Amino acid sequence: MKKARESIRRTQRAPRRQAFAPSEASEAFASVSQTLAEAGRAFYTRGWALGTSGNFSAVVSRQPLRLAITSTGLDKGTLTAAQFLEIGGGSEVVRGDGRPSAEALLHLAVVRELNVGAVLHTHSVWSTVLSGSHAAQGGIALEGYEMLKGLEGVRTHKHREWLPILENSQDMTELSERVTATLRETPGIHGFLLREHGLYTWGASLQEAKRHVEILEFLMEVLVRGGAPVKR
Ligand SMILES: [Zn+2]
Repeated sequence: MKKARESIRRTQRAPRRQAFAPSEASEAFASVSQTLAEAGRAFYTRGWALGTSGNFSAVVSRQPLRLAITSTGLDKGTLTAAQFLEIGGGSEVVRGDGRPSAEALLHLAVVRELNVGAVLHTHSVWSTVLSGSHAAQGGIALEGYEMLKGLEGVRTHKHREWLPILENSQDMTELSERVTATLRETPGIHGFLLREHGLYTWGASLQEAKRHVEILEFLMEVLVRGGAPVKR
């Protein structure tokens, strides 16, 4: 959130006088793209974004709404800042070359509904397995784990985190509407799963969103590797 606020303040300042100086908005875009690229490469290394899967975004400005987001079809193991696009609130490209993932609509839905600063989406083995095996329950309850305290606002291992599972779809308009409805129906959640597809999580800042990926991926891996019955 701090970075996002900074970027808003920056864009509200008077424009620079130097004719060819890069605009401060473009500096904000370059800065978040760099951090997102580093996070994406790290996720690839952990096996959470293989085979061009996953997409990552951060808010560059809120008025008008602008996100830095991965272009579609990229190998996340070699992701660079130059491969990010800046998109507007309708998913239209306003800066950069390439096409945004169709899932950009889901990123926009989360940002609009929760006013967060970054949205990260991974396709790990663990989220794929659990979102299939627990689809009938509509979600996964995570409770009793010390690592839960890595989620923003959680102070005790006794916290019960509900990770909803939404049926997957290729119709992103329809899916984005279900995402919005889920966020409204289950306030306070830190992420959701798309069935046999992957994890979406977010944070007020990019660092917070990255931490949430690490915590949720860790806990899902614990459940699958541990073979323990999942608490409901
Ligand atoms: Zn995906």
